[in-house]
Amino acid sequence: MIGFSYASQGLSSGGASMFALKKLLSSVTVISLLAALLAGCGLNVARTASATEQGHEFYVPILEYHDVAYVKNWPWALLPGQFASEMAFLKEHDFHTVTLMQLYDAYKYGARLPSRPVVITFDDGHVSNYTIAYPILKKYGFVATEFMVTKAINKKGFLSAQQLLTMQNSGVFAIECHTVSHPHLAKVPLSRVRYEIEKSKEILTKLLGRPVLFFCYPYGSYNAKVVNEVKKAGYLMAVTSHFGYADPVADGGPFTLHRISIHEGLSLAKFAEWLSASLNPHNQIGQTIHKLLHGGLLHSRVEDVEKE
Ligand SMILES: [Zn+2]
Repeated sequence: MIGFSYASQGLSSGGASMFALKKLLSSVTVISLLAALLAGCGLNVARTASATEQGHEFYVPILEYHDVAYVKNWPWALLPGQFASEMAFLKEHDFHTVTLMQLYDAYKYGARLPSRPVVITFDDGHVSNYTIAYPILKKYGFVATEFMVTKAINKKGFLSAQQLLTMQNSGVFAIECHTVSHPHLAKVPLSRVRYEIEKSKEILTKLLGRPVLFFCYPYGSYNAKVVNEVKKAGYLMAVTSHFGYADPVADGGPFTLHRISIHEGLSLAKFAEWLSASLNPHNQIGQTIHKLLHGGLLHSRVEDVEKE
């Protein structure tokens, strides 16, 4: 058993109010775009608004899970029934799970995401992600991301190399990087930071037979030097434990993406509330505006929208 310890993560009221502020700012952006359109600014607006508006398109919840088998006195280990009910909620409310690569394509190149997108992530590589989460995800046709700590592979309570390959080859899971030994990266020497970031990428790439392009900071611990090393190592995006929807504009870039951390005992009502920005019609208006403004002639984009 690897002796990981976990710092308290972003569930403070400060995190929640930041989340509310982001929602408000997002609505303001949509209203500004609508006003500009109604004022007849048309294609001119498309050029000036593209960066902000692309950020809005990328405004997506990334759920952060750890263990989905109950562990006493550890808030990040859920009862399996809680996880199952949350997945059923996503299915019933027409959420579409997407990979981090799909999210990157949307952010970087304006690729279109399905309606009501959500990313499901698991940190550390607990064996319950295979025994409990994997069959549930498979049943719903969902995709998810496993952020694996490479030193934990084949250790008791954690995923084996064979399980990781099965999860990947099924198409249900993308396996991504969470360092070699799970240190607080902001508190260790730069040489150790480089080793943790580069060696784990090398180990997983060799095991999985594919490039590993996304990174997760243990304990959400990072600083400017750590981010720089993650970029230099060739990762495309990285996630933190800051609470909120992911938005590369508001979050300060694609290497400090926010997530929504799910803890043991969270009520389904609270889960729904945290995802309410996706359920809110404003977000759909935002996506319609995006379709109107994002490339091509305005009139042809309107026809596209009307067909849907
Ligand atoms: Zn972790």
